[in-house]
Amino acid sequence: MSDTEDSIEALHQHVVASRRRARDAGPKSPRKLPPDRHIFCNSCRRDTTHRCKADYFSPHLIGEDQYLGGILLVVGHRLWLCAGCHTGTMERYLLDDEGMPNGPGKLFPPSEREHIACADFTALPAAIRRVFEETVAAFNHGQWILCATGVRMLIEGVCADRGITGRNLQAKIDALSKALPEQVGAGLHRLRYLGNKSAHECRVPTSEDLRLGLGFCHDLLTALYELSEKSRRLTTHRNQP
Ligand SMILES: [Zn+2]
Repeated sequence: MSDTEDSIEALHQHVVASRRRARDAGPKSPRKLPPDRHIFCNSCRRDTTHRCKADYFSPHLIGEDQYLGGILLVVGHRLWLCAGCHTGTMERYLLDDEGMPNGPGKLFPPSEREHIACADFTALPAAIRRVFEETVAAFNHGQWILCATGVRMLIEGVCADRGITGRNLQAKIDALSKALPEQVGAGLHRLRYLGNKSAHECRVPTSEDLRLGLGFCHDLLTALYELSEKSRRLTTHRNQP
């Protein structure tokens, strides 16, 4: 090793040692807890005031061999409690060596702000209900291609359940649509197209298309199955003395 390389290595070791001392002398938990914050509560289903109940963090050195002295990061975890229902949420956060946030913190469980609530169907055939639940779950987990193919399967399932046959899904939807308002048939074909693009071309649909599509499917299943069941119950109830 040349004298120049020796001196660079010596400088590196010196800076590493100084960084390690900075890490060891860094702030230690616990410290003053942060003020209340508005966070989406998955139980209350809205933004609520959250109170920090614990904040633990520790300094870490990363990349000591790649950078002069490495990068000093503070890795911390906070426990937040909803002031309304006391449900807990964990936050993992990073601070740089000047104590500034290094990117947004991550919450666990993750926020369900954009989630779709799965309807509690009671009159759906079990197989169709299972496909609907898994399709909603795929949406809520950001698995949009699977969600779009699930929507397509849902329409296939409804056609099969109603004894509709045809050479392909397009023909089946045409048959199913005869008993439905014209615009409903157009919507079904739009969802078929969306599902085909995902199933055959791995095309990623937009979340807004899927949100609309799942809302459409929810209303269709309600009209085809739930409404009939409620009507039957209403009639039975009326006939009772
Ligand atoms: Zn809450």
